Amino acid sequence: MKLTNKYNLPQPILDFFESKNRRHTDAYASVTGLIHGARETILTDRHFDDIVKDVSDMLPSLMGTAVHDVLEQYSSSEIITEKELLITVLGHNITGKADVIDIGSRTLSDYKNKKVAAMYYDDRIDVTKQLNAYRYMYPGRIDRLEVCYLLKDWSEGMKLKKSDYPEAPMLRFNIPLHDYNDVMLWFTERVQALIDCENLSDDDLPLCSDHERWHRPDKYAVIKRGRKRASAVLNSKAEAEAYIVDRKLDDQYKITHRPGEDVKCKRFCDCRHFCSHYRQLIDNANVEKL
Ligand code: SF4
Repeated sequence: MKLTNKYNLPQPILDFFESKNRRHTDAYASVTGLIHGARETILTDRHFDDIVKDVSDMLPSLMGTAVHDVLEQYSSSEIITEKELLITVLGHNITGKADVIDIGSRTLSDYKNKKVAAMYYDDRIDVTKQLNAYRYMYPGRIDRLEVCYLLKDWSEGMKLKKSDYPEAPMLRFNIPLHDYNDVMLWFTERVQALIDCENLSDDDLPLCSDHERWHRPDKYAVIKRGRKRASAVLNSKAEAEAYIVDRKLDDQYKITHRPGEDVKCKRFCDCRHFCSHYRQLIDNANVEKL
């Protein structure tokens, strides 16, 4: 990966990212690589040396590492931190790294540095797969999984204003345990999906799923003229029209189409510049602007 430093940030920041800038050469994939779409995992691997990232965009990685490094100092005979895990699936090595394993309570925890809004939107589907995969890679010793959110923008003031605001800036939530057979099947399917893609050209790789693209579907907002806030936001134009009819709203109300988007593709996928789907999104956006 080629790192740039557009804002001339201090050398230690650049040095930190340079030190992290390496592939997992020994492994076929990581658990997180299996959770991503096969297209993303393969494009990232094929084009790793040509992906360009600016260090200013990598703050979440710096903050995440800082938290892990500080907490790692408090490991003990009962608390294992940054536990490296390895499993072989269909003859390929798959790696993982568990944040914290508490031997006494047989609990595996994962820290997530997130904003409050991101915690609300987190359906925990990916972290559930990730932690159950780690439990499978460390068999017979984990009875409980949890995610611990560290909410970097949490505010006491917002807690006083909003009844559904998180109670505290650090919170833990249980993650459901999956049956070992289901996890084994998941590993096999995901590794097989990567194997099946090995000889495909970049553009022929299967498109990442809606979930993998963080797809937000189209919405239709019913808004009273002169107001910014929508009276209702619905999933189809027909539902929005029915909303207006049912409530006998007058012609002061209009329907505004809010186009959906692939949030990850547009801003957060490292390999997007090598992905035909991203190029198509950009072409479409340019056509809309004309
Ligand atoms: S840009 Fe989107 S579709 Fe392409 S690899 Fe990334 S997440 Fe998948």
